[in-house]
Amino acid sequence: MRVERIALSGFRNYDEETVTFEPAVNVICGPNAQGKTNLLEAVYLLTGAHSFRTRFDRELIGFDCAWASILADVEAAGRSQTVRLLFQKGQRRQVTVNGAKRTSAALAGVMTAVLFCPDDLHLVKEGAAARRRLMDNAISQLRPGYAALLADYNKLYENKTRILKDWREKPSLLAALDEFSDGLARCSARMIRYRASFAERLAEAAAPIHREFSGGKEALSLTYRTVSTVTDPRAPAEDIYAQVAAHQAAHRQAELEAGQCLTGVHKDDLDIALNGVTARSFASQGQARTAALSIKLAEREIFRAETGEYPVLLLDDVLSELDGARQEFVLNRIGGGQTLITCCEDEDISRRTGGRVFAVKEGRIR
Ligand code: ATP
Ligand code: MG
Repeated sequence: MRVERIALSGFRNYDEETVTFEPAVNVICGPNAQGKTNLLEAVYLLTGAHSFRTRFDRELIGFDCAWASILADVEAAGRSQTVRLLFQKGQRRQVTVNGAKRTSAALAGVMTAVLFCPDDLHLVKEGAAARRRLMDNAISQLRPGYAALLADYNKLYENKTRILKDWREKPSLLAALDEFSDGLARCSARMIRYRASFAERLAEAAAPIHREFSGGKEALSLTYRTVSTVTDPRAPAEDIYAQVAAHQAAHRQAELEAGQCLTGVHKDDLDIALNGVTARSFASQGQARTAALSIKLAEREIFRAETGEYPVLLLDDVLSELDGARQEFVLNRIGGGQTLITCCEDEDISRRTGGRVFAVKEGRIR
């Protein structure tokens, strides 16, 4: 899967610009604030998702423009398709594929991408929410049933939380509490099986990548953590359900007192360790960046195993904080599929990569 060509009009700081990418490595370099991330953002939007930088499409439109468009030739499963996105102020985005109107969601079937941006360092250094999001996003893309399950869980969680917060003022609410808890336990059981299986595949794929990336120095391990009463997260859903329900029952009084849901998969985590030590507490900046990137690359391997094709890999600003050897890995040894890498290095970087180098200056690309 790859983006062959992309044409931007009135998009962010691009007035009119067209780029033809290489099928393998593309390095997009230039000083700060020239349009490197904007270009990556345009490619990411072709997947139909929201921007990784804003929820508001209007921010994508150039300051002096009435509309913005992205026109791209995308090659997937051996066929070339033309995708066009049009953003107009105060209107919904318009999407066409080969001239026919489509929904944004339908673009996911045309192109997929794995993105690494500086915020992804949160994956290693921050709380569990970022790691749950990684699992949820990836599994939802691979297994549509999971997205529905997650939506059900979130609805039940909201309802139960409202009861736990308000039951003192309105004791009649308690009548529905156990029903919501039971629903949550049933959803939890199914989600745990999905997450455990995904985490296992991710761990298997990430370990060899990280070992090579770190020059053989570091062993990366990922361990899925869920409700403590669950003895085997791959067991049949009925068994897991009983164990989650037991945990809930044991915490019923504590939940009423705390006014919040204390048990369930909204507390799950994916422990990341380097050489047996928790990365969250002990990894250096460079190690954290390497680990986060290894996990993203592992995600890409899982996608390829499922779909037969590598998603487009978008790496925003990954090179900073990496030493020469780790930079070399990113520039030359990721392999397979198309990669777009932005960096602040000057054009001399062409001596360090076999990929094609594009220099970006004030919304123009050379
Ligand atoms: P850095 O190395 O600092 O990450 P970059 O090359 O990635 O820089 P971008 O994030 O692509 O920089 O942004 C380039 C410029 O685009 C910024 O100066 C920003 O102000 C400008 N910009 C952002 N949105 C718009 C817009 N809607 N219209 C016009 N210019 C915009
Ligand atoms: Mg940038």
